[in-house]
Amino acid sequence: MNEHPTLPPSGPKAAAPVKPTRLQAIRGMNDILPDEAPLWELFEDTARRVFAQYGYRNIRVPIVESTALFVRGIGEYTDVVEKEMYTFEDKLNGESLTLRPEATAGIVRASIEHSLIYDRPQRVWTSGPMFRHERPQKGRYRQFHQMDAEALGFAGPDVDAEQIVMLARLWKALGLAGIELHINSIGNAGERAAHRQALVAHFERHADLLDADAQRRLHANPLRILDSKNPALQPMLAAAPKLIDFIEDDSRAHFEELQRLLTEAGLAYTIDARLVRGLDYYNRTVFEWIDASGTLGAQGTVAGGGRYDALFEILGGKPSFACGFAIGIERMILLLAALGAHCAPAPLAYVVHAGDAAGTLARRAAEAARDAGVAIVTNAGDGSMKAQMKRADASGAAYALIIGDDEARTGTVAIKPLRGGGEQFAVPAGELATRLAALTR
Ligand code: ATP
Ligand code: MG
Repeated sequence: MNEHPTLPPSGPKAAAPVKPTRLQAIRGMNDILPDEAPLWELFEDTARRVFAQYGYRNIRVPIVESTALFVRGIGEYTDVVEKEMYTFEDKLNGESLTLRPEATAGIVRASIEHSLIYDRPQRVWTSGPMFRHERPQKGRYRQFHQMDAEALGFAGPDVDAEQIVMLARLWKALGLAGIELHINSIGNAGERAAHRQALVAHFERHADLLDADAQRRLHANPLRILDSKNPALQPMLAAAPKLIDFIEDDSRAHFEELQRLLTEAGLAYTIDARLVRGLDYYNRTVFEWIDASGTLGAQGTVAGGGRYDALFEILGGKPSFACGFAIGIERMILLLAALGAHCAPAPLAYVVHAGDAAGTLARRAAEAARDAGVAIVTNAGDGSMKAQMKRADASGAAYALIIGDDEARTGTVAIKPLRGGGEQFAVPAGELATRLAALTR
């Protein structure tokens, strides 16, 4: 048979030959192709394994939620809610819906809706796509992926430290060195209110320096002004009252115990008084892991998290403690690729066959091998023996299994090592599965 058979013409013969335009992926939303996917799998498998070692269980929540969830849960005057959400109206009932920009709000909504944590606290993780309408650049996309872990119902600071230690273990398991830990405490609501008053007074004294964003946030959310990247504001921001100076005994003790636990675990950290994080709902512990290698350019933060004890109440649940973090997977992949990390899962064997009887034997032998747990690719689409051997080589398989007329007649399979030399040998088809299973060990 022709190796590249032409497809039969589609559609009515009389149709005008209009060439359809090529459609493209939406800007900032990436395809992850089979050659890149192994690094994703490496990251996800490793993270899942490490998280499970700490008792985290998987939870999966919808990608679309009501807009109100994020406005209330993340905060009206945040970059995410003000500028970055993909919000649309449900055509049927006019309800305002949003593609999730992060996972925590949805997980807390689900926990409230299903009374997940009122009997006992829960450690959960999730991963998947998030959507933010940002300017696409290296490490920053409009559809991106996060792996999240949330410890729900724990007052900490033991669980806060445990999450940070768990991340350190993950970096180590992935072979990533040079990711640095930054921590801060942003206190509780009362402490932040006192700080906020002092902050507003400071900003009002320098009102002439504020840009439009800062002016809008001055009374609504002055803390967010500290997050401004406008260079003109930096000296005034550096001189602003620091939250850490307003933090009282309980929050201070929480922060000190966190530091003691990190030191006990042998982790180095930097206290960053300006670390407030972009979402409104945090309290006490906040942390970020920042890559110091320079690989990520301006997008160096690979994971961020902290405590959000107020969120359950904000979303209509009973007051409950909670602490969590999110890892930016694209940034992880960039780091792993820069390390030269690779893992290209290839089948153990590729079955080359010619003729009807050989085809039957090939399919039967391949299924038996899969029963024994072997990954095996059977040639599809015919082709000469030579062409099939080329495909076998390109598949990355360690062995070609050759079944021609002779083999079909004698019920044998020829095994040809494709890599690292070695002679071809034949085995009875009935023994193939056990022979191949032995070769994988
Ligand atoms: P940034 O300051 O980089 O905008 P953020 O504070 O908005 O980050 P979080 O909401 O804390 O980010 O999300 C946690 C992690 O998710 C970030 O540290 C980052 O690794 C990743 N992340 C956030 N936004 C994007 C994006 N648009 N594209 C790719 N990764 C992202
Ligand atoms: Mg952001």
